[in-house]
Amino acid sequence: MTRVALITTGGTIAMRHDAAQGGAVPQLGVRELLSGLSGLPEVEAHEFCNLPSAHLTLDHLWGIRRLARDLIQQDETAGVVITHGTDTLEETAYLLDLTVDSPKPIVLTGAMRTASEVGYDGSANLAAALRVAAAPQARELGALVVLNDAIHAARWVTKAHTTSLDTFQSPGWGPLGRVNGDAVEIGYRVQRDIIPTERLEPHVGLLRLAVGQDESLLRVMRQSGTWGVVLEALGGGRVPPWWMPTIVEAIQQGLWIVVASRCPSGTVHDRYGYVGAHRDLVAAGALFSNGLSGAKARLRLMAALGASPDAARVRGWFPLPSPAG
Ligand code: ASP
Repeated sequence: MTRVALITTGGTIAMRHDAAQGGAVPQLGVRELLSGLSGLPEVEAHEFCNLPSAHLTLDHLWGIRRLARDLIQQDETAGVVITHGTDTLEETAYLLDLTVDSPKPIVLTGAMRTASEVGYDGSANLAAALRVAAAPQARELGALVVLNDAIHAARWVTKAHTTSLDTFQSPGWGPLGRVNGDAVEIGYRVQRDIIPTERLEPHVGLLRLAVGQDESLLRVMRQSGTWGVVLEALGGGRVPPWWMPTIVEAIQQGLWIVVASRCPSGTVHDRYGYVGAHRDLVAAGALFSNGLSGAKARLRLMAALGASPDAARVRGWFPLPSPAG
């Protein structure tokens, strides 16, 4: 029998309605999560915390990462499954993908319905995740997200719907594979990269741009000791012209700026000649997210700044996209 390590952290998968609190709250422990499941790999369970994912801090994320890394290094462990609230699941998944260097799968799962609701999806999702974590064909794919029988790469996956059971999508790529009964089917494989770090730089923020928005928040962040800012910019990574002087000055003063896109898929580079387009941001010394969402690019910058104070190394983890033809 293959053994899978299970780490529980909370989320809707562990929730049921509590009349005293007037809504669903995390209550289920490992025993309840696993009850009724059979024909699955042997499980070694660790209760890390029992929180909604909006309550998780960077310290929680790093603690989950440390526990997952320690468990995955054990010879008897085929893979790790983490139950997690779906609201920030993609961020924990990407952090693990980026910082745990192991061929064994780390699989995150959750649920969209509580155990008090008809059609609770937690048991089916957990069973599927355990199967994927034990599957040899899921090795070398980094961290994976398994819900609703779809298998997604941590790098691309996002929560795309507030309530649908099929909420996790990989826009522009699609799922890597599917769980079909007890079979784990992988359709294509991803290349991953690792930033070898033992800490995250916490002072990194995320700003989303909107039409006509002023740049005052960027100035506030720069003045308040922030080390890095990810700009979720417009389209292929463009900013309004009035942002450029603040961006140029901030980078000159040592602030790291990474440009991501507020589009759900696609990389950031273009051939436009107007002010605030890719050419200007490259000249200013900005970094680019290479198709990562703003939230994931933020974690990547935190890991890069935590790994090294050396500017050339940090830049090396954000290679410039190839120039538009
Ligand atoms: N509010 C929940 C959480 O992220 C949502 C979920 O788990 O689906 O913890």
